[in-house]
Amino acid sequence: MSVAGASRVEPHGQRVGFAVVGLGHIAQAAVLPAFAHARKSAFLAALVSGDPRKRDELSEHYRVPAFRYEDFDECLRLPEVEAVYIALPNALHAEYAVRAARAGAHVLCEKPLAVTEADGLRMIRACEEASVKLMVAYRLHFDEANLRAIQAIREGDVGDPRLFTSTFTVQVPERNTRLSRERGGGVLWDTGLYCINAARYLFGGEPTEVSAFADRGGDPRFAEVEEALTCSLRFPGGRLATFVASFGATPVSWFEVVGTEGRLRLNRAYEYQGEHTLERWRGQSHFSRSFPPRDQFGPELLVFSESVRRGESPEPDGWEGLADVRIAGALYRSAREGRAVALEPLPIRRRPSLHQLQRVPPVRVPSLVDAEPPWRG
Ligand code: NDP
Repeated sequence: MSVAGASRVEPHGQRVGFAVVGLGHIAQAAVLPAFAHARKSAFLAALVSGDPRKRDELSEHYRVPAFRYEDFDECLRLPEVEAVYIALPNALHAEYAVRAARAGAHVLCEKPLAVTEADGLRMIRACEEASVKLMVAYRLHFDEANLRAIQAIREGDVGDPRLFTSTFTVQVPERNTRLSRERGGGVLWDTGLYCINAARYLFGGEPTEVSAFADRGGDPRFAEVEEALTCSLRFPGGRLATFVASFGATPVSWFEVVGTEGRLRLNRAYEYQGEHTLERWRGQSHFSRSFPPRDQFGPELLVFSESVRRGESPEPDGWEGLADVRIAGALYRSAREGRAVALEPLPIRRRPSLHQLQRVPPVRVPSLVDAEPPWRG
């Protein structure tokens, strides 16, 4: 264990203390700085990393103790650590979430919840049995641009929403964890998951049938996972969703909903940095609204900590995460088997809505220790 200089953690009162587990790009660029915006309800209590340089430097910078993975259980025994924020490669989410829950820690887990339905269920059950809260880190459930799009559709702005289309592509650098099968890499667990989640929150429903094509292209980066997928989802009421997601194309991120009377488009729909623009068309009218950059991670810490304190299940909870895991799994199966796959929808009780809106100023990204962004170009 590395322990930073003088005092360890500040007095926490009613606030929830977190151990951040896995100090890669998202943890360093977004999660750790976000604690400054969540002071009201949350504080950083510990770090967990396999990298000695990260443990030393980040422990020093944030003035909290840092543990190796081998000492995870010791970290969980710290009285300050009430919750974990899991920012590990996808395939490790389940193992660390279950261990944390069994030790009595609440679990805020990066997306995807897991890379198999069985693992996702295991996480939900472990948290239920230990009476701890489980939340999947869907930052867009608190993002104004996305919530306004949901609200506009609910209020009938486009008439009856009929079609969802979306593109979310990035150029993933060689050796990134997303390109490793063993670590749970794959396009649908990453960019594709946002499109699935958006189709569900915009239509306010669950797909009953899905189909997909996948391709690896010829680039050696895609030896273990596909380069791109094109996916179709059938929703109740004759609504259809289609999206393309890729690890080998220039960065693009938008969705569009076409209804019986209008159309809505969110540009840079899934980004956590920069501005979003929501455009709406109805008859001859065109409306456009821009939303300034915000911190989307501070809101997750606030909402999760408050739900821990109130003893309520957060939205988005484990079931919300599991719904997307099942759909992504069915899409992969469809691509493998060359046929559409039917789905028995999960009963999802709550959907993101405007009352979840949190406006928090953007973070300043600190200098990173041994971490690189998951995109190039
Ligand atoms: P990185 O590869 O940058 O970081 C993952 C970290 O996990 C590593 O730096 C390492 O940290 C730790 N780790 C532990 N075991 C292993 C292992 N066997 N192989 C590789 N790394 C290991 O990934 P990201 O930070 O980009 O992604 C982490 C998680 O966050 C993923 O689940 C991803 O889907 C999610 N994510 C969410 C985003 C969002 O917007 N909500 C955006 C980006 C990612 P250490 O050296 O400290 O041990």
